[in-house]
Amino acid sequence: MAVTTRSSLKQELFAYARGRGADTIGVCAAGEFERSVPNLQKPSTTSSGMESLVVFARHMLTGSLTTASVPLQSFNSHLCMEEVDRLSDEIAGWLEERGHLTIPVPPESAWMDLDPRKPMGTLDFKWVAEAAGIGTAGLELNLLTPEYGPRVYLGVVMTEAVLEPDPPLAEDLCPGLQCGRCAVTCSTDAIPTEGARGSSVREYRGLNKRRCALGAERIGIRPLHLNAETLLSSQKPISPRAIVDNKFMRDFWQSMNNKVGAFAACFECWYVCPVGPDYRRLMRVPYRQNDLPRGTIKHVKTDTTIGVVWTGPPEDRKPEYAYDRTFQTLVGAKRASTEAESSE
Ligand code: SF4
Ligand code: SF4
Repeated sequence: MAVTTRSSLKQELFAYARGRGADTIGVCAAGEFERSVPNLQKPSTTSSGMESLVVFARHMLTGSLTTASVPLQSFNSHLCMEEVDRLSDEIAGWLEERGHLTIPVPPESAWMDLDPRKPMGTLDFKWVAEAAGIGTAGLELNLLTPEYGPRVYLGVVMTEAVLEPDPPLAEDLCPGLQCGRCAVTCSTDAIPTEGARGSSVREYRGLNKRRCALGAERIGIRPLHLNAETLLSSQKPISPRAIVDNKFMRDFWQSMNNKVGAFAACFECWYVCPVGPDYRRLMRVPYRQNDLPRGTIKHVKTDTTIGVVWTGPPEDRKPEYAYDRTFQTLVGAKRASTEAESSE
């Protein structure tokens, strides 16, 4: 009887969330997730007494990914994230109206020092989504969904309502380095390019978050902080005018105002992932067909390993991802290496 009640509450909740714009939705039990999550971002870090984690995905408009303009895509990704915020709040409100305390977990709540000894944010949504069966984490640790591959944003609410958990997907959506397309084209070489032959993608999937941040968060507070550090530690005199009057400072100002470029500023691993039917629509666009022209992907196999050769994105987009270094060169500062350039 209790299961029937849990089940009907869940069905009503799912129908409501889909009606409000969620593309896909699932549930996992908070206690089980607390025990199994592979990092320190546990439900109890945010609150105790929560029974269920409800996770949903909303896809970024496929058309916005067809353009050559990364800032335009970044703007659209922020619109999508705002929809996720709205949905989280509405789903939480729906559950509270029925008597269940609920927390909409902010998707952008991350501790920017990226210290692996500490939780890096509230919850790591991709693991919630994998546990709740709406997708599986790929080689690059993006959550891949059957419907839209990695081209989604995730929202999570934690609730004291007891909802029937969904099973994880039976098989990984990512074949790992048998594909390896995202690792070939990653703008900062942050994705594993080698793994043990015959092993599952789960054994070698990963992401160098510090490197990824140089591509995906290149205009936000973190590079601004790194640049300030560079300026302070520079052994050479620096022109004050060069520091305050350049296009990079204007971009920083813009990113502080509308978040464009502050994060979600690199989509290279999204363009090339073949998972999801939306990928075929993307590939109709000639510009997207240049992301990985025929012959670009080189697999390297030994008796014990399988790998791909990193090339980075097409030449016309590479300057987008040299932002940090370009800024330092412009102001005349130089130091041997930054914290962000070292591996985790
Ligand atoms: S977002 Fe960009 S930098 Fe980060 S893993 Fe994907 S391709 Fe690499
Ligand atoms: S591009 Fe290929 S290797 Fe990368 S996540 Fe997608 S399916 Fe996996």
